[in-house]
Amino acid sequence: MKISQNMKALVLEKIRKPLKLMELPIPRPNSGQILIKVHACGVCRTDLHIIDGDLPNPKLPLILGHQIVGTVVAAGDNVRGFELGHKVGVPWLGYTDGTCPYCRSGRENLCDNPLFTGYTIDGGYAQYAVANHEYCFAIPEGYSNVEAAPLLCAGLIGYRSYRLAMRDGDAKRLGIYGFGAAAHIITQIALYQGKEVYAFTRPGDRKAQEFALRLGAVWAGDSNQKPPKRLDAALIFAPVGAIIPIALRATSKGGAVVSGGIHMSEIPSFPYNILWEERVIRSVANMTRQDGEEFLRIAPMIPIRTEVTTYPLEDANKALDSLRRGKIEGSAVLNISD
Ligand SMILES: [Zn+2]
Ligand SMILES: [Zn+2]
Repeated sequence: MKISQNMKALVLEKIRKPLKLMELPIPRPNSGQILIKVHACGVCRTDLHIIDGDLPNPKLPLILGHQIVGTVVAAGDNVRGFELGHKVGVPWLGYTDGTCPYCRSGRENLCDNPLFTGYTIDGGYAQYAVANHEYCFAIPEGYSNVEAAPLLCAGLIGYRSYRLAMRDGDAKRLGIYGFGAAAHIITQIALYQGKEVYAFTRPGDRKAQEFALRLGAVWAGDSNQKPPKRLDAALIFAPVGAIIPIALRATSKGGAVVSGGIHMSEIPSFPYNILWEERVIRSVANMTRQDGEEFLRIAPMIPIRTEVTTYPLEDANKALDSLRRGKIEGSAVLNISD
């Protein structure tokens, strides 16, 4: 494959500013890295949190994007397992030190010295990207580029959240607050495993509620509504702290309320009795490579289908704006090349 000298990229120069279309030199892969021609890159709520300055110390200037689907077009030294022409996926976790106490105890998602794609290293809102091959995944068969992109964060971190919420194998009724990219994927896993899904959306968002019902949720309503039955577990994908006490109130004894996002508005105080009886609140941070391997093995078996709204690379700001306004059904994805 012939590689030209420059590439187009959408660049965040300063926080709270729109991304700027720029012509940049194509990066060169260092040892252990692969150079990827980017076909598609998913747009995630975390990208909004980075733009808004909710997350500390992003690399600046920065190329956002941590759900990259592309083809390997060059490789540095010491790359194993990926050949030129292979289709690869690049997720949020871009590097870990492998030596800190968290890495050594199988919790690399909590690494003390991590790097994150599209946050502390450049991501995929560009025609090319480099990535450490040890953190890349093979893309399962049966998915187009744009359909595969949301599997890499919405799917993968959603799956980790789901697994932690349903740690009690008997849990049946799952509430999902915030019915966007992650929720539409996790609903399919939950149904496949014989669970019931209760979908909660922004108050009055009938379109999202219909979307949830169409996917097989047994009930859909406003986030401040009480579900018809008590939930065994709740997942929160909306960045709204006020939902935590609401979800606790809807959850039965011993149930878990799991927040899947990286940032949330402040949680209001609440009485102890809604937490009592061994209810649990927990967050989910990042992902391990094991989460990725496991999820990408399961996805084609179900098979998980993703609903995507695509935008050309140049329209990344438009995609982000639609996501911010809750206008995306399923996932927003940049369609960058064939
Ligand atoms: Zn994400
Ligand atoms: Zn570590």
